Amino acid sequence: MHRSIATVSLSGTLRQKLEAVADAGFDGIELFEADFINFKGTAAELGRIAGDLGLSIDLYQPFRDFEGMPEAQFRRSLERAERKFDLMQAMGAPTMLCCSNTSPLAIDDPSLAAAQLHELAERAARRNLRVGFEALAWGRYTSLYGQAWEIVKQANHSHLGLILDSFHTLSLKDDPAGIAAIPGDKIFFLQMADAPLLSMDVIQWARHHRSFPGQGDFDVIGFFEQVLRAGYTGPLSLEIFNDIFRETPNRRTAVDAMRSLLYLESEARQRLAKPSVLQQVTLFDPPPVPALSGLSFIEFAADEASAATLATLVGQLGFRRIGRHRSKAVTLYRQGDINLIVNAQPDSFARQRFEAHGTSVCALGVRCDDPLAAVGRATAMRSQRHDSPVGPNELRVPAIVAPGGNLIHFVPEMLGADGLYESDFILEDEGAGANDAGLQRIDHVALGLALDQLDTWVLFTRAVLGLEPGESLELADPFGLIRSRGVANADRSLRLVLNVSLSQRTRTARTLSVTGGGAVHHIALSCADIFETAAKLRANGTRFVPISDNYYDDLATRIDIDPALLSRMRESGVLFDRSPAGDYLHIYTESFESGLFFEVAQRVGGYDAYGALNAPARMASQAQD
Ligand code: MG
Ligand code: MG
Repeated sequence: MHRSIATVSLSGTLRQKLEAVADAGFDGIELFEADFINFKGTAAELGRIAGDLGLSIDLYQPFRDFEGMPEAQFRRSLERAERKFDLMQAMGAPTMLCCSNTSPLAIDDPSLAAAQLHELAERAARRNLRVGFEALAWGRYTSLYGQAWEIVKQANHSHLGLILDSFHTLSLKDDPAGIAAIPGDKIFFLQMADAPLLSMDVIQWARHHRSFPGQGDFDVIGFFEQVLRAGYTGPLSLEIFNDIFRETPNRRTAVDAMRSLLYLESEARQRLAKPSVLQQVTLFDPPPVPALSGLSFIEFAADEASAATLATLVGQLGFRRIGRHRSKAVTLYRQGDINLIVNAQPDSFARQRFEAHGTSVCALGVRCDDPLAAVGRATAMRSQRHDSPVGPNELRVPAIVAPGGNLIHFVPEMLGADGLYESDFILEDEGAGANDAGLQRIDHVALGLALDQLDTWVLFTRAVLGLEPGESLELADPFGLIRSRGVANADRSLRLVLNVSLSQRTRTARTLSVTGGGAVHHIALSCADIFETAAKLRANGTRFVPISDNYYDDLATRIDIDPALLSRMRESGVLFDRSPAGDYLHIYTESFESGLFFEVAQRVGGYDAYGALNAPARMASQAQD
């Protein structure tokens, strides 16, 4: 499809926006009028700049408060339209967006609206331009696409059509199913936007909180599917008003934007079994989402000194050193199915990360059925592939760069538990270590993200890794709010938790200022009996975040817990959460350098979350240390 984006969706000057959009591979733009009004140059110059960048100007928008007006206002608006048509002709924009009237002067008369729009279309037709009519969710008398379509039908002019915007339809919970019955050639333009589900005024929601498809909670794929079923073959465009995007570097936003359209097309393609639809448009067809089955390893970036500190720390956590790398200063530690790699190799990717961010996680290894296909999917979705130097007899494990710069390796499932490590490491004597604390596998990895990275990560994990986001929660830190959202694969073998600080003063924000964002904030490891494991870890020298007695008093009032269990939790500092499906018992270690810490967790039954309600207990305790 012809892929387009409204200039309002990005930060920067108009020229910077166009350059970012062109670099990201877009075919065209919607010109947001305010961007032109403040542009130092003529309409013809803008048309040339866009043309030189290989971009068409697909739409001039918005033209407001036009239809259903008293005669005097209507005549003045026609003159206003003529001046806009002059500009459109000079820059080469074929279509103008006219959004439904919000003026208090508007008259509730669809026939009058149709007659006035007919006149506007007649003026446009004289210049071989077109007008698209869009129902704004807060339009005074026209707020639904069905109402706008009735007016367009009644106006009955070849140069007047309908403009659809997923935000206006989905924010009002209107049913998009009727779109499929509209003739495709009467839909002149399609604007797509997603949004988080919020209960707030629709204008505020629309102007500040829209997001790219795949970043929010709307069924944007279902909406797009109806438009394709209608036979629409025009531009697929993004119109996103978002406070954060206005501040985010526009090149990053443009890549996210393109990824969102590729994701939307590929998901819609899977739903459209009907070949006749696919014969009319070409929808992006990337390699399928990889089948992932949990984390094979977590790799830390270190130097010699911090590698020694980490060795002590993971030893206290019950890990045993089981291997040294054949050619590099890299050490492998294991407990249960958990592999931790400490990379202190000079002149390596890990060392670069260490120098930039201190001791920190620099890579995750994800088990995968077909690593090359997974990398193919990722690059098709505009992620970058990463190739590390490989020594003799070592395996090349394909990797991609995640937002923020860490690596994700795709470890071939067929290698089994030791295959990867046997080739790259000299493995030492097997068998349980004396410090083994019963930690079994990696339950989840929590990332601390800068505010403008949350949407990026939600879309990245969805489009590239096939993970689905869970509920978005707001948690109180003593110094501000944290937003937390889990993403996981279908069988829950791979879980990530995305945490964003809404304040500069929280611990998460301070961790971010050390690490630059996109950093692993904690690693949760699972066990079968948290009391036994915690006792063993304490005996090994692990220190846990102390929890206030008041927490347990309160817990007993909220949840009906066996008193014996409650007193065991109180004694050992274990936190508790219960859902209808099961329970979650967990405990946090004290943090080391750069704020990273571990969590030990026991899931009981079908508990599917992350104990987020207990995070404030941890954060408050950490703040009182
Ligand atoms: Mg719109
Ligand atoms: Mg956690």
